[in-house]
Amino acid sequence: MRTDTQPSESHAVSAVCAAVNRNRLLDTAIRLIAKPSPTGSAGEVSDELAAILIEDGFCVERVAAGHVAAPAVVVRYSSGRAGRTLQFNGHLDTVHLPFVPPKVIGERLTGSGSADMKGGIAAAVEALRAIRDVKGISGGAILLTAHDLHEAPWGDGSQLDGLLAEGYVGDAALLPEYFNSALPVIGRGGFTWAATIRRPGPPVHEVYRPNEPSVIGVGAKLVAKLEQLDAKLAMRPDPLAGAASAFIGTIQSGSIYNEYPQTCRLEGTRRWLPGTRFADVDREFRELCRGLAQDTMTTIDVETHLMRDAFLLDTTDPFIGIFQSAYATMMGEQLPIGGKPFVDDGNSFFSRAGVPAITHGPTAGGAHTTAEWVNIDDLVRVARLYALIATMYCSHTT
Ligand SMILES: [Zn+2]
Repeated sequence: MRTDTQPSESHAVSAVCAAVNRNRLLDTAIRLIAKPSPTGSAGEVSDELAAILIEDGFCVERVAAGHVAAPAVVVRYSSGRAGRTLQFNGHLDTVHLPFVPPKVIGERLTGSGSADMKGGIAAAVEALRAIRDVKGISGGAILLTAHDLHEAPWGDGSQLDGLLAEGYVGDAALLPEYFNSALPVIGRGGFTWAATIRRPGPPVHEVYRPNEPSVIGVGAKLVAKLEQLDAKLAMRPDPLAGAASAFIGTIQSGSIYNEYPQTCRLEGTRRWLPGTRFADVDREFRELCRGLAQDTMTTIDVETHLMRDAFLLDTTDPFIGIFQSAYATMMGEQLPIGGKPFVDDGNSFFSRAGVPAITHGPTAGGAHTTAEWVNIDDLVRVARLYALIATMYCSHTT
């Protein structure tokens, strides 16, 4: 850690960082990982987190936010004085894969959700404890929120949306997801889509086929149209986030070589850059399919599911400067600015609440596999960084 800070600031920095307890953090992570929590069924781990925080002496609120099976866990720790509220937010649910119990192997903690993102939540909880233990914020408050319904396709982000709508939102948010190679300032929004093309008649041998459109031929036309759209979108990439896109992931039709099929179903994604909204892209996609259906005398049913709207961070917001100076205090240099390759809850903070959110978490791997791991030293680093950012951010009253 650098020591070229002012004496009082330096004292606060070293106190809050020294208050982070590696064993206490690790114990919390292990307890969270030990409770299986596939998306939609995170009730048991939510109860466990609430129990941990109550044991620590925090006042815990449980907020259903539309999902009574696993009410979100909320702690508001206030300095009792005016200032800004910094939110630590994470999801307690894991993807639907066979459960792997927690295990410490050398420098790594393994098990379901260790990387994505119970390790990160444990780091945020430890930051909260460190701040409380040394009175690390002289103004403002910390808001800790942990919820279910994050992972697609089982979850739709609606519990966090509910929390934000009900006012469980800070002036800025930190999300300890497993990403730390850049400070993500821009990210694409995205939806998944499915288009089912139908002709009116029954299944029939191809030698008797009626004068009806070939659903496979229309599927091919849809592929061509989406590829044209994708090529057009690719011409205007954002230097950090890449280009908007139209992607086809599956195409299914027919059951045997000589039956005239009735349906053709395609699935894929559509991604867009900030400045465009879900509703606009959704309408454009449906119009493209409607036009094709009209031209080909078919019907095309379209389903879309929003993953998250696009993400943009206002780099002039003081939160960004404070994050960078806290990071530089610990690491000796600032984190490079970059794009966010995935959609996450930061997109919801931006698009639904207009709140700056930084995704920054531990070094980890194996997310969305049964071989998840997180680096324990890096959990400690994240806890210290979060505590330090809070120390620097919360006391300001502007
Ligand atoms: Zn995650």
